[in-house]
Amino acid sequence: MALTAVRPAADITPAPGLDPVGATPMMAQYIEIKAANPDCLLFYRMGDFYELFFADAEIASRALGIVLTKRGKHAGSEIPMCGVPVERSDDYLNRLIALGHRVAVCEQTEDPAEAKKRGPKSVVRREVVRLVTPGTITEDRLLDPARANLLLAIGRRKTGEGAVAYGLAAVDISTGRFSLSEVPAGDLAGAIARHDPREIVLSEAIHADPALTRIWQESRAAIVPLAQAELEPAAAERRLREQYGVSTLDGFGQFTRAEIAAAGAALLYIARTQLAARPPLAIPTREDPGATLAIDAATRANLELTRTLSGERTGSLLATIDRTVTANGARLLAEHLAGPLTNLEAIARRHEAVAHLVENGPLRAGLRDALARAPDLARALSRTGLGRAGPRDLAAIRDGLAAAADLEARLSAVPDLPEDLVRLAGHLEQVDADLIATLTAALADELPLSRRDGGFVRPGYHPEIDEARILGQDSRKVIAALQARYAEQTGCRTLRIKHNNLLGYFIEVPQSIGEACLKGLQSEFVHRQTMVDAMRFTSVELGALESKISGAADRALALEAAVFDDLTARILAGAETIAEVAEALAGLDVAASHAELAVELDWRRPVVDDSLSFVVVGGRHPVVEAALRRAGEPFIANDCDLSGDTRGRIRLITGPNMGGKSTFLRQNALIAVLAQMGAFVPAAEARIGRIDRLFSRVGAADDLARGQSTFMVEMVETAAILNQATRRSLVILDEIGRGTATFDGLSIAWACLEHLHEVNACRALFATHFHELTALGDRLARLENATLKVAEHRDGVVFLHEVVPGIAERSYGLQVARLAGLPGSVVARAGSILKSLEKAERGRPARARIDDLPLFAALAPPPPPEPPPEDPLGALLDAIDPDALTPREALDALYRLKRQRAGRG
Ligand code: ATP
Repeated sequence: MALTAVRPAADITPAPGLDPVGATPMMAQYIEIKAANPDCLLFYRMGDFYELFFADAEIASRALGIVLTKRGKHAGSEIPMCGVPVERSDDYLNRLIALGHRVAVCEQTEDPAEAKKRGPKSVVRREVVRLVTPGTITEDRLLDPARANLLLAIGRRKTGEGAVAYGLAAVDISTGRFSLSEVPAGDLAGAIARHDPREIVLSEAIHADPALTRIWQESRAAIVPLAQAELEPAAAERRLREQYGVSTLDGFGQFTRAEIAAAGAALLYIARTQLAARPPLAIPTREDPGATLAIDAATRANLELTRTLSGERTGSLLATIDRTVTANGARLLAEHLAGPLTNLEAIARRHEAVAHLVENGPLRAGLRDALARAPDLARALSRTGLGRAGPRDLAAIRDGLAAAADLEARLSAVPDLPEDLVRLAGHLEQVDADLIATLTAALADELPLSRRDGGFVRPGYHPEIDEARILGQDSRKVIAALQARYAEQTGCRTLRIKHNNLLGYFIEVPQSIGEACLKGLQSEFVHRQTMVDAMRFTSVELGALESKISGAADRALALEAAVFDDLTARILAGAETIAEVAEALAGLDVAASHAELAVELDWRRPVVDDSLSFVVVGGRHPVVEAALRRAGEPFIANDCDLSGDTRGRIRLITGPNMGGKSTFLRQNALIAVLAQMGAFVPAAEARIGRIDRLFSRVGAADDLARGQSTFMVEMVETAAILNQATRRSLVILDEIGRGTATFDGLSIAWACLEHLHEVNACRALFATHFHELTALGDRLARLENATLKVAEHRDGVVFLHEVVPGIAERSYGLQVARLAGLPGSVVARAGSILKSLEKAERGRPARARIDDLPLFAALAPPPPPEPPPEDPLGALLDAIDPDALTPREALDALYRLKRQRAGRG
């Protein structure tokens, strides 16, 4: 199978065809292993380092900022080399993975002593033990605790005349989650955006489909095309059966061919990257088509659901609403937010659970308290299944299960729990108390990172381990006594017994008295090494002691390893139950998080029903409100009613710049998302008729990275809305048509509004600065005008951010420009241009017809300069209104007066 890194293609120069002929034995081994893994950076283990050679070394040294050195020659040229210490390799792996690289980790798989037995020139055997790729990592240090780490595989099937559907298999190896779904071609990009995968696996044919090129270009994920021959449908089904050890898939439910193809591709890639290890994956769940609110990629980005436009979590809706206390919960919250529901009963059940926890403060506090003590059970369990767990993972499982038992006790004490909480409590009931007791008895208080370090079994748990440890400790005491005796015998007070990996235990004395020692204790001391300023010896007695010590330590380690395996086996015997417990903890955390948020910010329970209504009373924008709160400013709540069959289904919003149009539009979309994900909403009341698709577009967003003209992007996205929005959809359009010449833009906006009204017949909010569009209020039955209130005083304005019925007379663009610091002369000139334009408009009907717009026709030349006033100082003074000046403006005015008096104008 050829793994081709599409991203970051620019970074990876293909490994040159290296010829093993003439290479040193070690280099020949390297070249052979590298040839088998051409698309990965090869981490080649040498002692305490992973070394990289040739092109890999150049890529890694650039990517990691580490020194590029040289090691010997190959084919007449020096071999570039760089290395990372094994101890800190996780950090480096992390950085390479983040850049989209894949890494093959090649370990020494035999003891160097064994290799030596084969001859002095033989090379230690090495094998690639693992491919580390962005979508298949499991180490805590490489993972973002609050984010699922998804591998997404994509399959395809024909559904009819020229039409295809795509199957998606979303697998999170770090938690074992596995889900399948199918979407029509038009929804593929949106579905990928919803899953937000780290890596996408697909066939070469799908990857090469020109209709999909833009999706791969825009994805943040690493893309891995696989050869068609490896993705045969029969092989896909076989892989699924083998993974779960079943002879038929019927028991799992009905999957489409595209879903099975996707699942097969995912399993193939997992097998390839995990080599011998097989991650414990949950049985795939199938998501029904239309089960989640369809939100396309542009809308997600626009509404900043899980990350802001600049790509950060901070400032997104997710970050604003996240009150979870566990990593498990944070991941589930993100998942719920990315895929709000459409099933009314499921939504209502979630609301009911939140309502119960809102009303029951002590229960909520108790649950959150217990949850906060639960570590990341799902990820610890997955590592255990993969044989990659350390003692701390076992402790995490112990503590997670203990927290679950505590939560279960709290929940079972409450009568009349709502359905969702009863279901979650049911999962918690399965906690195996014996397993908790065993883990508690077996694991020490302080735990090492790796099982290889030993010392993790609690004293008293295993008598033989205790015995071996005592022996080890006693021997150390004996060594100390031996050191004291030798010091006395040699008369050398600085004699020390030390230990290193090469010599084992040895006696060290300063060089100056080494010779004397040799003479005095010749019979006992055997010379081992002469250093610059010291000499090293061993003795029969020390040698015997050493084997006793290392024997005891080895024995303790071996016994501890057996305990570890035993504990692991016990955990894995209940893996399915533990995975369910982990899910239940996450579910409780999410419900409690919503409740906590609702109480903290006075959010209310929405009603989601089967109607086509959309009534929000006192709605707020959660993120803008949070920002204003931090600045100590109030947020003005606004109502929104798009329910009307006769009027108000589409609301056309005109209003001043900075008036709050975009905020109002988005807050209503966010309230819909929150309601359908099962959360409470930032509004006094909300009644929302189930929405099937949500669209949000902002006119002419900058999109230079995509290499498309901004207006082109705007039109492509608008086209998608007009083609896809149904009667059940909610559409938010903000300044559509802004990115082109005024007439063109106005005409397009006009036609789009008519289409939304006549054809899509959806609920929509449409904000615009084309005031001419308000004339449509008379012609389109279900369109109503709304505006944002402004208070004017002299030449300043105050934005009241209040949405009211009606039409904005002006955009107050000049006032905003002045507030923004545009030079005074420019604002003044713009003012006079505006006056000329308005003069030409005067006398025309207040609302223009589309084919009768004057706009710039009457643009007058700049006015001639006015003659200087007779008393310039007096004129300047008269023009000043001290009450209307800021301190800074007052100071400026003073300078102007001084300049005038000095005759410098
Ligand atoms: P433009 O037409 O220039 O794009 P706009 O009308 O879309 O402007 P917004 O971007 O929504 O205006 O809002 C501008 C600022 O006004 C926001 O950043 C926010 O600080 C403030 N604001 C908006 N709505 C409200 C509100 N309801 N209450 C308080 N402040 C608000």
